[in-house]
Amino acid sequence: MSSTYAGIGVSNGVAVGVVARVHGPVLPPRDGAPIDVEKETDRAFDAFDEVGGELEALAQRAGASGAVLVRQARIARDPTLASLAAQLVSSGRTAPRAAWEAFGAYRDMRAADPMRAVPDRAELDDIRDRVVARLLGEPTPGIPDPGTPYVLVARDLSPAVTAGLDPQRVLAIVTERGGPTSHTAVLAKSLGIPAVVACPGVASLRSGQRVMVDGGAGEVTADPDAAAIDAAGRHVEPAAPPVVGPGRTRDGRSVQLLAAVGGAGDVADALAAGAEGVGVFRTEFAFLDRTEPPSVTEQSAAYREVFDAFPGREVTVRTLDIGADKPASFARLGDQPNPALGVRGLRVARRHPELLTDQLTAIATAARGSQAQVRVMAPMVATTAEAAWFAAQARQHGVKVTGVMVEVPAAALRAADLLQVVDFVSVGSNDLAQYTFATDRADGELADLLDPWQPAFLDLVATVLRAGAVAGRMVTVCGEAPSDPLLALVLVGLGAGALSMNARSLSDVRSTLARHSYDDCVRYAAAALSADGPSEARARVRAALDPG
Ligand code: PEP
Ligand code: MG
Repeated sequence: MSSTYAGIGVSNGVAVGVVARVHGPVLPPRDGAPIDVEKETDRAFDAFDEVGGELEALAQRAGASGAVLVRQARIARDPTLASLAAQLVSSGRTAPRAAWEAFGAYRDMRAADPMRAVPDRAELDDIRDRVVARLLGEPTPGIPDPGTPYVLVARDLSPAVTAGLDPQRVLAIVTERGGPTSHTAVLAKSLGIPAVVACPGVASLRSGQRVMVDGGAGEVTADPDAAAIDAAGRHVEPAAPPVVGPGRTRDGRSVQLLAAVGGAGDVADALAAGAEGVGVFRTEFAFLDRTEPPSVTEQSAAYREVFDAFPGREVTVRTLDIGADKPASFARLGDQPNPALGVRGLRVARRHPELLTDQLTAIATAARGSQAQVRVMAPMVATTAEAAWFAAQARQHGVKVTGVMVEVPAAALRAADLLQVVDFVSVGSNDLAQYTFATDRADGELADLLDPWQPAFLDLVATVLRAGAVAGRMVTVCGEAPSDPLLALVLVGLGAGALSMNARSLSDVRSTLARHSYDDCVRYAAAALSADGPSEARARVRAALDPG
């Protein structure tokens, strides 16, 4: 009999396939009964050796991008590590416990050796988890590889892991945790993989079990019967003939429809969807798995590929937004008690100024030879002083048009001041909702508090858009909010001159916009602002759409 689990649908599409679970994390093994020292030592040595072989094989399959795996294989086979484990076994530890502790001792030893580089923590933890899982007879932690396409089921997925998923192999993503505007959700959407997050019941799904995932409805059905699959397939409505050309209201008012991209891989979809430019180029997405910062040359080549796809069009490059739920090993930020409120986005430049200056140099270099109208903006800006500092840095490094994202309520309230020191501001709706409602965007349990129809959120957006109108500057709204066609109308009514979204949403928003006049949009905006809560706001706008 089939059973259905409800979550939050974050990336549309229906997929049917077998489950492959992400295993882990591995917990520190306990020490148990007395041991046979010789046997446990052999077991530990074998596990190090086998994991070394496994990593080598993976490195070979990965080809040019397998440098990290080669390095990891070398560590797994480092005799120092094996001898640390042997010492721990001889003092009475079981092989799994000894291996666990040996990695800690190995890290300390390497950190104290001025002649050798300290291995990256995440790389070392990954080898340790593989070795310990093998010794405990547990499945290898990490992304599974069953050999045929599968539905990936996990407790949660990091953005770095999601960015590396292959849409040819992963039919759908289902996570027990995660929020609607989390970076994992954003990435799943841009990869075109149907996804459901915040779906607690799926903990009971087994690897190999057949499931149907409906990313639009936010439903996962275990062991679906033919009738259920047929019904879900019929749910997908035939597309209406698409409206083409630049975004405009029924009465011809222009609203630029821009794409959010994470790199050259997203460009084809953006162009096919008729994007008029790039609203936010999330530069960090390409580099999250790096242990060393990307060089200026490498960055500039990566940016140039995107710029060249949009000759004569605006491309807004967002400087690296790392930290919080997007950690990158190349920028060590330490253990922060509350990373989303800590060193993230522009604040990373306080600790690692060279990351920002290298990136600005790379952007300026790439922009110089291209036909695109390149602009640069910083994420996570709270004050006018930060905005002024960023603009000065950008100009000094040769980027002429500078702006900041409005993602923190303080910045929204002072948008008029920001516009005195930068050329433009752009609303980051995902983070603005997170910081307005003091609600982690990766927390599906609190998704109602992240709803962009919340009147307090719309008030802040309205404040920014008014400041733009007074200063005579066009303001873009980006993040997930503009991809809801009804909300897009409200944002236009509040004064947004450009909307940035995932390429897959552009067509719906363009068609919806073409059916309503600008005055209609102003009415919808007033209706939304007059509501007490998100459901009422939606209902009022729907009622205003159809007075009959
Ligand atoms: C946002 O916060 O809305 C945004 C566009 O940035 P990101 O989702 O990458 O944090
Ligand atoms: Mg953001």
